[in-house]
Amino acid sequence: MDCIFCKIIAGEIPCYKVYEDENVLAFLDLDPCADGHTLVIPKKHSDAFVEMAPEESGKLFEAVNKVSNQIMDKMENITGLTIGMNTYETAGQTVMHTHVHIFPRYEGDGGGT
Ligand code: 5GP
Ligand code: ZN
Repeated sequence: MDCIFCKIIAGEIPCYKVYEDENVLAFLDLDPCADGHTLVIPKKHSDAFVEMAPEESGKLFEAVNKVSNQIMDKMENITGLTIGMNTYETAGQTVMHTHVHIFPRYEGDGGGT
């Protein structure tokens, strides 16, 4: 399958890994919105979140919780996180392998939606 994230899981494309378990891999985004911008992906390919089996999405979000706490603990001056998913091209999804974005937020960084 011609999927960039499946190639990262297979070790065919390098990444900066921040978390891994049996079902999930997390690594730094190549084009970060902020230092520490992390992607959390299921090892089993699905094009988009709504196509995952519910029990698989549960495992994905357990890992999102762990990685979020890892980022909050490790990064200095961080006071929040943006956690989100683009689902399908209309919503801005560019890589068709389910992924969750987590990126650090800082007091007064101009964010907030
Ligand atoms: P999307 O726009 O689909 O929600 O997010 C895809 C994300 O994947 C983008 O933030 C982009 O920077 C990141 N990305 C695309 N290709 C690669 C890659 O080869 N390695 C890594 N680490 N991130 C990638
Ligand atoms: Zn894939």
